[in-house]
Amino acid sequence: MIKSNKYKMTKLQGIGKKELEEKIRQAYGLLSPCRLCPRACGTDRLKNKKGYCKAGLLPEIASYHAHHGEEPPISGFKGSGTIFFSHCSLRCVFCQNYSLSQLGEGAEVTIQELAEIMLKLQGMGCHNINFVTPTHYTAQILAALAAAKDKGLGIPLVYNCGGYESVETLKILDGVIDIYMPDFKYGDNAPAKKYSGAEDYAERAKEAHREMYKQVGGLKAEGGIAVSGLLIRHLVLPNRLASSEKVFEFIAKELSPDMAVNIMAQYYPAHLANKYDEINRLPAVNEYTEALRAAKSAGLNQGWRQTTGTLAREKIPEWKDSLKDS
Ligand code: SF4
Repeated sequence: MIKSNKYKMTKLQGIGKKELEEKIRQAYGLLSPCRLCPRACGTDRLKNKKGYCKAGLLPEIASYHAHHGEEPPISGFKGSGTIFFSHCSLRCVFCQNYSLSQLGEGAEVTIQELAEIMLKLQGMGCHNINFVTPTHYTAQILAALAAAKDKGLGIPLVYNCGGYESVETLKILDGVIDIYMPDFKYGDNAPAKKYSGAEDYAERAKEAHREMYKQVGGLKAEGGIAVSGLLIRHLVLPNRLASSEKVFEFIAKELSPDMAVNIMAQYYPAHLANKYDEINRLPAVNEYTEALRAAKSAGLNQGWRQTTGTLAREKIPEWKDSLKDS
């Protein structure tokens, strides 16, 4: 089970003003030439030039709301305060949020407006602020956090990212982010290159997950609500193209067998996936159960699975037991 924790203060509340200002300075320094993500495409974001991810200087967001569909300790009973950012440094051909991530749906907000949105979500009673696809706006998010902190932001911060992260950028976030919630999408680079345009995904994701785990450790909760730690998501792809077995072995052996992992069955061929026969279908039931078995044999024992072919999440507190007959 997720450990309980006597957590009285978020990391943002605990960090000093000067230290936070220094982090903001460092993060903005990574914008020109931009190397916020491992792509390091080098565009001058400070001059509002758009790089591979198509993000410029000001953050763009598509929506924000209390989200009740995240994992149980993230959504809780009042919802997770999600902020969906436009654009992405990955280009997954099957992205289910492609209208935001790749078609750029959304609108620019100022740093002050972003801070106000965080405070509004806190005022709505949300358990946390959940930055969805934040990597390319890390600097801007930090600047907004400084403004929001001055006005009393005091709920945990969730960094909900694609797992293709720069360790240099993550180190700047050390001491600010309470909960990391990355995807670990692929165990091999060939499919990562073909379907997400990231030929070094596996190495970068491993480095990033090690760093995130080093910063926050395993998932901890108070009264069933997450307050800190790492929660990893893995989407099972058709034809074993996510190399789930390798992902689970890495997590169990190099991070912890007690890591909270959500093994997702919600893949469907969105966006451009119909151009690739091998991913132009739902995962078969046996492919998904095979992934569950791989997690079990790797030694993982905490997390959630989904019902195949549906979006429903089902918490499995005694995960080993539930997998016995699978
Ligand atoms: S965040 Fe965007 S602009 Fe910056 S390096 Fe990555 S892809 Fe390029």
